[in-house]
Amino acid sequence: MADLFNIMKIHVGEDKLRARVLVNPGMPVRTSEDIEATARVYYLAPAIAQHACYGDAGEKFQDCMGDTELAHLLEHLTVEIMNQTGLAGDISFGRTRGVAEDPRLFDIELGCPDDALTIGALSSAAFMMQWAFVNPDAPAPDFEGTVAALTQLVSSLRGEGTPEGDETAAEEPAEDVAEDVAADEEVAEPLADEAEDAPHTEDIASGAVFGGAAAAHVE
Ligand SMILES: [Zn+2]
Repeated sequence: MADLFNIMKIHVGEDKLRARVLVNPGMPVRTSEDIEATARVYYLAPAIAQHACYGDAGEKFQDCMGDTELAHLLEHLTVEIMNQTGLAGDISFGRTRGVAEDPRLFDIELGCPDDALTIGALSSAAFMMQWAFVNPDAPAPDFEGTVAALTQLVSSLRGEGTPEGDETAAEEPAEDVAEDVAADEEVAEPLADEAEDAPHTEDIASGAVFGGAAAAHVE
């Protein structure tokens, strides 16, 4: 099954992350091209409708959600996942811009208090949209379960501890995710001390980014 998005590059700055995202050929670029799929995303995370969103049709995301870029929807879904973990602090924000040379290419900028949190949320959001737009006959992603798994993952990476001796089957997928994201974390780590505007670029294979925390919750 073709992927909806390819995450081409991730730039990690001091407090922002920028992902260059390609909407694959044959896939819709705007939500208005598949309003049913857009509604599926809305029902997974209805709170996105109330996000502040300036500069498009109005002041809330709901004002433009029916006719905006899929990349913009991906941004809001990512921000909502981050919000719901409660680990994003006050600085969760996002911005999506088209890349001039290609109408299918977008830069999504996300607040990044924590690399693993932001990358995990982005990859989970991409997975949810893959379901909504490409695989709607599959069981719906578990939004709350994804948020819980990501919260646990990020907390454990921060050394905030998870219960010991509780190796239930339910926790195993989260550990798998932890390994994936930990690998990304290592890639990003050397950048942490650089100035925000330093021209650093990390190419993270899309295979490492896709699937994400949400994948663990598809039964
Ligand atoms: Zn917006």
